[in-house]
Amino acid sequence: MHQHFIGGEWTEGGEAMENRNPSDTGDLVGLYASGGSAEIAAAVEAATTAAPAWAATTPQQRFQLLDLVGSEILARQKELGYLLSREEGKTLAEGIGEAVRAGQIFKYFAGEALRLSGVKLDSVRPGVEVETLRQPIGVVGLITPWNFPIAIPAWKTAPALAFGNALILKPSEIAPGCAWALAEILSRAGLPAGVFNLVMGGGEAGSALTEHPGVDAISFTGSHAVGRGVAAKTVSRLAKVQLEMGGKNPLVVLDDADLELAVNAAVQGAYYSTGQRCTASSRLIVAEGIHDRFVAALLERLKNLRVDDALAEGTDIGPVVDERQLKKDLDYIAIGKAEGARLILGGERLARGKPGHYIAPALFVDTTNAMRINCEEIFGPVAAVIRVKDFEEALAVANDTPFGLVAGLCTTSLKHASHFKRHAQAGMVMVNLPTAGVDYHVPFGGSKGSSHGSHEQGRAAKDFYTSDKTCYTLP
Ligand code: NAD
Repeated sequence: MHQHFIGGEWTEGGEAMENRNPSDTGDLVGLYASGGSAEIAAAVEAATTAAPAWAATTPQQRFQLLDLVGSEILARQKELGYLLSREEGKTLAEGIGEAVRAGQIFKYFAGEALRLSGVKLDSVRPGVEVETLRQPIGVVGLITPWNFPIAIPAWKTAPALAFGNALILKPSEIAPGCAWALAEILSRAGLPAGVFNLVMGGGEAGSALTEHPGVDAISFTGSHAVGRGVAAKTVSRLAKVQLEMGGKNPLVVLDDADLELAVNAAVQGAYYSTGQRCTASSRLIVAEGIHDRFVAALLERLKNLRVDDALAEGTDIGPVVDERQLKKDLDYIAIGKAEGARLILGGERLARGKPGHYIAPALFVDTTNAMRINCEEIFGPVAAVIRVKDFEEALAVANDTPFGLVAGLCTTSLKHASHFKRHAQAGMVMVNLPTAGVDYHVPFGGSKGSSHGSHEQGRAAKDFYTSDKTCYTLP
């Protein structure tokens, strides 16, 4: 069984949970420990003991460690990408791409450890010196989802370590293999015992981490429903919290858009990674002058996508992660039809020779923004087209959602692109690009109901993983 990593030791604890390949459920990826409050308590104690010495390390020490970890991930990208695709179901190319991303993130934050700085200012009082220092928070808890099982643990773990914090990583119980592999790499990288801890398990372990009084901050990525509870618990004990949650991301296609580019953006954004991305475009808001041509061209592209085993060559779209998510996708297909949306492609369960969770990519047309399929996050390869008159209506519809993660626009109009960048209610805006697919050296995060607290990644990461201390001196 793959064990937890607590206080520098591999330890048993709790039940063993099965990690199965969603492309072929007969394939057992491995057995992973599933802990609860006892393992969380042990990990928090270890992190608390280790935190002061780690906070006192030099930026050079932290740079070297993160750089080493990044190098190993990059060197093992094929093997880690294979594991990722096998346990999560995105295609091998996507899996390897995500492993590379994780390596790049560690390299980036190695450099950020060196660049962390405070500010020295002139005081408003004569003779007084005033400066702000950036200091580690202490012990941080990281709770991650299954859909980016190595990139998200990496983009939380790397800045936590770079800026001098000790941490407990609690990955998703649905795909714990990549987080375990990351822990194995970190266990050999020369970190003092207790600085990095891995506790695997489900909601019970996540909840125990959230509630533990020894945890100074929680960084959570996952669903809105769970995120709200995490926020309530952390805020009630006055701990710092950051949440990245779901989206209902619009991709607006205007009459003047490059048709091929717009169709590519829709296929890539809505369907790749089986639509299981928080940044997926699920609402395709299309102006009436291009609507019919766009739908016809999109339909042609979708018909040619190959849905199959994530690890097989030539697969465009792998399976849904598990039976529960597949049922959710199928339920939303039924809901859309019952609401009067017209399903023009897909939406049915597929058989692929092996027992796996396959679904045909689905496209709805003639939908309204008020339908549930356009209001609630489905998290599958399902998109709905909403026909609009012009840019003004498109923008209003795009913004008419409680979510605000990312908004996309396809246009050749500089005027509309500029206006959209300013007025789209989202933390990220893409012009002539798919809504999914981001850089690792800039902030990532949403607005409205998609996020809470400071953004992740890039220069924004230090806002969460450090706190400001203002010092006054009369020399
Ligand atoms: P989830 O909310 O079910 O689980 C996320 C994590 O929370 C898991 O580790 C889970 O074990 C843990 N958890 C469950 N119950 C808990 C509790 N009571 N207290 C504390 N932790 C608990 O989400 P998921 O199904 O793993 O992931 C899919 C969701 O994540 C989607 O909504 C997606 O949009 C979102 N997501 C958001 C981003 C982003 O950056 N905005 C990125 C990826 C995924």
